[in-house]
Order: sequence, then structure tokens, then C-alpha cells
Amino acid sequence: MSKEAVSKINGLIKEHHEFFGKAIPLIASENIMSKAARLACTCDFQHRYAEGWPGERVYAGCEFLDQVEILCADMAKQYYRAGFADVRPISGVVANLAIYTAMTTPKGKMMAMPIPSGGHISHAPRLAKSTGNAINGTAGAVRGLDVEYLAFDQKEMNLDIDGSAKRIRDFKPELLLFGGSVFLFPHPVKELSAVAKEVGANVAYDGAHVAGLIGSGYFQDPLREGAEAMSFSTHKTFPGPQHGCVITAEAGEWSEKIKAACFPSLLSNHHLHNVAGFAITLAEMLEFGKRYHGQVIKNAKAFAGALAAAGFKPLCEHKGYTASHQVVLDITGLEQSFGLGADIEKALEKAGIIVNRNLLPWDAREGRSYKNPGGVRLGTSEVTRLGMKESDMGAIAEFFKKVIIDKKDPKAIQPDVAAFMAGFTTVKYCFEETKAFEWY
Ligand SMILES: *Cc1c(COP(=O)(O)O)cnc(C)c1O
Repeated sequence: MSKEAVSKINGLIKEHHEFFGKAIPLIASENIMSKAARLACTCDFQHRYAEGWPGERVYAGCEFLDQVEILCADMAKQYYRAGFADVRPISGVVANLAIYTAMTTPKGKMMAMPIPSGGHISHAPRLAKSTGNAINGTAGAVRGLDVEYLAFDQKEMNLDIDGSAKRIRDFKPELLLFGGSVFLFPHPVKELSAVAKEVGANVAYDGAHVAGLIGSGYFQDPLREGAEAMSFSTHKTFPGPQHGCVITAEAGEWSEKIKAACFPSLLSNHHLHNVAGFAITLAEMLEFGKRYHGQVIKNAKAFAGALAAAGFKPLCEHKGYTASHQVVLDITGLEQSFGLGADIEKALEKAGIIVNRNLLPWDAREGRSYKNPGGVRLGTSEVTRLGMKESDMGAIAEFFKKVIIDKKDPKAIQPDVAAFMAGFTTVKYCFEETKAFEWY
């Protein structure tokens, strides 16, 4: 079986590539790398160890690895106008753990967004009852943190400044953490950081979703608005490999604590191949990021408008729907005729359209859970990297209408989706544009 397993695995990888090459990728937390970055991620670095900081490693053989890691950190500092970058965290969650380790004491107090409003599981307490289900959140389960939630304004889809300020003054957290996974509008970092300082709290920003937008100069600038550190994933709006990073405005107390948290507390090897892929993507974004992320946001606004015109309900029409790469659809009202989030996710998948269902902030109150919630979250990062512009968003909205509102057989729509995607097979916004979904 073992030899057959190899060809079976290779066959499945090939099938996955073919499947994605014909699909419309709309998962807001995903993106696609250039060939140059992908190749870097497959190099010999993935066999090596380089514990510690460049120049102070505890292994031999690091001469070239060190130079790549230093280049990577230098470009990260340039892209984010940051005084310090630790490019070692192997994911966004590990980057958050570095922040918790540096900025809280075990069993200390932290404030963040609740999950149903768009907060991330890594911000949650142990056994959060937020969705009616016991969830073992990272902050609680790993650091023992007592997490209190910030107040959220469901109409504005943003933190409620007055309500959150009151809770910060009452709860007096050690750490105030901004950011989330449903992230349509910039958070009031300036306003609430000032309140956090009154009670002596540290402030951090989880930019996992919006890191590319921020680096390219859109959305907001947390390090200038009051956050001492920003953690992020390098593969969402930032179109690099699956990895993480923590930056601070200046080298100093926090950067030393973050460094010590990453090694030796949280990491032994740190996926050096992905540091190389991250470095290449940073070079690409320093050159093409402004144009790329500008188009990502224009496409998200155009997509929301086209979906509304097709008969759907994107949230926050009164605010122009979005200021990020995301669009959130309220698909309640369709439950009689079609179904809810999970049903829509499945039907679209049959048509070759890849989306994820998502909780709306008011789902729990109305008796819905994450298993079949009232929302669908969409993102334009990947389709934009494949070259789509505003007019293409109208075509995608039409496919949504055919499957969900006109209730055409999704299998019958799939060839049209594949034909549409035949026009978007190249990775753009990089130095050498090559085929996406190619498997070498
Ligand atoms: C995706 C996400 C993470 C986790 O990132 P990974 O790189 O998958 O570990 C953390 N925080 C937020 C807000 C996210 O959306």
C-alpha cells in the first residue's frame, strides 16, 4: 500500500489544484502566492533548525538562513513603518500567544471582541458560552486569561466606543486586544487606547485579516493609533505563505519581551522556508501593494453593491458596506426558499464557488448557531490577486443569484463558473506573473 499511497496522495493534490483552478475563491482568510514565493517555501530551509535570533543561533549552518531572516525583518519594518519585527511566529495564533506571553501575566485579565461579533477563537476565554456552545478559546485555555468582551454596535458592525470605554474602566484589563475575523471597518483604536492607558492596560492589535491593507497604507495604522504591538497572519490580505509575525512601533521593552516569548517560550524551529516565502512576498508588496490592496477594497465595495442589486442583503449599506476586503451577507429571509449559511455554502460549492458561512452578531438571539448561521462571509483578496476588477464582481454576483435566488441546479452553473475562471489563471502583483494552481 505504501507505494500506492504516494501516487494516491500526488493524485489528490493534482485533483485539488484542478478543482481550485476552476473555482471562484472567496474565502476572506485565504489568498494565493506568486510562483517565486511558492518556490522559496519548498527550498531546503524546511529541513533546518535555527533556534534563537539571527547571529545568536544555537545551531551551526545558519549563514544564509540568517541573511534571509534579517532581510525579511527589514522589509517587514519598512512595509509597516515599524521599529521592530519578529518574523518567527509560525501562524497568527502563535503570534497572538507571543503577545499574551509578553503583555499579560498567567490568569491575568484581557478584553477583546466576542466571537459572534467577529472576534477570533484565539481571543476567547476557556469555555466561552458565546455561541450557545462551550468553546475552548486559546487565551483562556493556554494562558488562563480571564477574558471580558468589549461592547459591540451591531448596526454599525464596529466596537461601541462608550460601552467599551465603560467596560474597560470597570474591568481594568492588563491587555486590550483589537481586531477580529469579521472586520468591515477600522476599530476605534485611538479612542479606546486612551481609556486603556487610564487603567494601565497594554494595547495590541490582531491584524490577521487586514495586515496587507494596513501595510499598503489603507484601513488604519494601529501602531500610530495607540497599539504597542500588532500580530498578524501572512496569508490573508497579505498574500504570502501560512505564517505569522509580530511588529512594534519601536525597538524597546516590548520588542525584547516579544523576542523572548517567541524563543524559547513558544518556538523551537520556526518554519524557515515560510520565512523565505514571507520575505519574497514582502518585496512584492513593497512594489505592488499599493495598487493591489487598493483594488482589493474597490472590488469588495463593487461586489457588495452588485450583490445588493441582485437581491441580496450585504450588511451596512448605510456605510458603503465595507472598508476592507470583506463583505458579509445576511441571508436570513431565504430560509423558507433556500436555507441558511451552511446550505448556501454547500450549494455554492457545487457550482464551484468557495465561501464560508459565518455567524451574524444577532444569530444566537434569534436561535441560530455556527452550524447553520444567518451569514456568509466573502473576501476579494484572492480573486483580486488573480486579476479581477470591479466589473468582474458583477459577474460573480450573477452566479450567486442563479444558484440562490433563481434556484438553478448548481451543477449546471459549474461549467459557466469554470469558463469564467479560465479568464483568471495568472497570479498578478508580482515580479514574474505565472500560472496559478500549477503543480510542479
Ligand atoms: C485567522 C485569524 C487568526 C489565526 O491565524 P492563523 O494564521 O490561522 O493561526 C488570528 N486572529 C484572527 C483575528 C484571525 O482572523
